[in-house]
Amino acid sequence: PAVRKPLIAGNWKMNLNHLEGIALVQKIAFTLPEKYYAHVEVAVIPPFTDLRSVQTLLDGDKLSLVLGAQDLSPKDSGAFTGDISGSMLAKLGVHYVLIGHSERREIHGESDALLAQKVAAAYRHGLTPLLCVGEGLEVREAGNQVQHSVDQLLAALADVTPEQAASLVLAYEPVWAIGTGRVATPADAQEVCSALRAALAERFGSEIAGATRILYGGSVKSGNVSEIVDQDDVDGALVGGAALDATEFATLAANA
Ligand code: PEP
Repeated sequence: PAVRKPLIAGNWKMNLNHLEGIALVQKIAFTLPEKYYAHVEVAVIPPFTDLRSVQTLLDGDKLSLVLGAQDLSPKDSGAFTGDISGSMLAKLGVHYVLIGHSERREIHGESDALLAQKVAAAYRHGLTPLLCVGEGLEVREAGNQVQHSVDQLLAALADVTPEQAASLVLAYEPVWAIGTGRVATPADAQEVCSALRAALAERFGSEIAGATRILYGGSVKSGNVSEIVDQDDVDGALVGGAALDATEFATLAANA
């Protein structure tokens, strides 16, 4: 996919305090020389408490790594104890924000309607949603992975305009492949990613759909990333476990 620059995004989940996060980013920067960023965009997605420290490091050293956050509130401010707003994230130089990661959908019961509000909140504050969709094992075994993932996509994008959709990033993450070591085959990834692109084309037109990056996520490692991103409709990877080791993550990005 020559027009779409691959994106490798490392989701740290609830791992690494701010000192460990700084150490990881420094190591990634040493291991992945600047010349690579012409070919691949690389993002780190630390916990909220690390964002300021990582941002200071990225800014101070003029590093090309892009900063993301793992979630945001659908609200802008107010009596929402424990929540973090899009404007707070934007102030910290955050570019991407994960929305609808399966761990948020499952553990926190986040609904499609809530995710649509989070997508709107991200756009209100100039953040780029990295919207995650994907089926669980039962849906996969029933053969309904395409319909399920497309339904999640269209529900979360219910209120999105074409202008907004132009900057969207998607991630197809089959739940049975996340953190399990059970990676989808390249053909599995391509099947759903191409269906997501077709759904985007129907909703927003083929130009926007053709320019949208669709990532695969689920047990991606340095050793399997290239065959996955070789697929026509797969434009990078959302990486969990392998994002916590600098050498592994930098090698993964270099192999994308
Ligand atoms: C993820 O959390 O988005 C993910 C893909 O995790 P892992 O790479 O560990 O499967």
